[in-house]
Amino acid sequence: MKNKLAGITVFFVLLLIWGCSRTQEGIVKPEYVIVIHGGAGNASNRDINEEQQNEYKEKLNEALIIGESVLKQGGTCIEAIEKTINFLEDCPLFNAGKAAVFTHDGKNELDASIMQGWDLNAGAVAGVGDIKNPITAAIKVMTDSKHVMMAGKGASIFAKEQGLQMVDSSYFFTDKRWESLQRILAAEKHGTVGCVVLDKYGNLAAGTSTGGMTNKRYNRIGDAPIIGAGTYANNKTCAVSATGHGEFFIRYTVAHDISALMEYKDLTLIEASELVINDKLAKIGGTGGVIAVDKNGNIAMPFNTNMMFRAYAKSTGEKEVAIFK
Ligand code: ASP
Repeated sequence: MKNKLAGITVFFVLLLIWGCSRTQEGIVKPEYVIVIHGGAGNASNRDINEEQQNEYKEKLNEALIIGESVLKQGGTCIEAIEKTINFLEDCPLFNAGKAAVFTHDGKNELDASIMQGWDLNAGAVAGVGDIKNPITAAIKVMTDSKHVMMAGKGASIFAKEQGLQMVDSSYFFTDKRWESLQRILAAEKHGTVGCVVLDKYGNLAAGTSTGGMTNKRYNRIGDAPIIGAGTYANNKTCAVSATGHGEFFIRYTVAHDISALMEYKDLTLIEASELVINDKLAKIGGTGGVIAVDKNGNIAMPFNTNMMFRAYAKSTGEKEVAIFK
């Protein structure tokens, strides 16, 4: 009788543990999750040939491996985001760091932000032209200053004081971006990098880094450095990083809206992010997409453009690297 009782107790305890480790969508909760993007746009299969597609996929995969190894070894979500985005910033394929797009005046003005979900602390830099890795500067603003956002010259002075690597503005020059400015002097173009993470400690964080939009003028600042627009993280709900036509993402506070729909309306991550990107934004012509991960390790990567460079990996071994729908 005693044995039977013990058996039943063990069964129910195991059932409870199993139940707790399941996410709202019924999948076992992964230990960690990393999702990245490399920008969204309306390029078609013909605009990016197969060789170029493979090149992009290779770099996205390398970025994932870098972030995953940090998380596997017990690193935090902030460490994983910094290493992953640093790699994408240094890679000349993406519109962040090294190959940032040009402004109307032929300069580079970079934006980046970071947010951590357990205490809603955040940091951002905007319109900087001499910091090699803007995401690292954004992290420093969060961890080593009393402020959330710094812009232009002031941000550069702070970054220098923090011992960050500074570069001459010519560092950001790439022929490809220069030609693209000349080609499309009127039509703005997309491209950005982002990373969202759930780490082993159950913490969420999001980071975004960009050169902004080609041909921008008047020190225009997009959504990427704006907390709630291009970046948001909250341990109660999810972590989000956006890419697309920044003005729409600012006006519709896209990243925070997704979190709010989950918090106040009880929507799942997929429902909330689909509603914001493919309904609300699509209706008003706001092009772009987001990557997101929730507190249970569910992910979403909706976009309303032709393509979005994107990839994710989970501790369970699930992995995908993709460009088109
Ligand atoms: N969202 C960025 C901006 O508006 C650009 C992009 O994601 O492509 O500055």
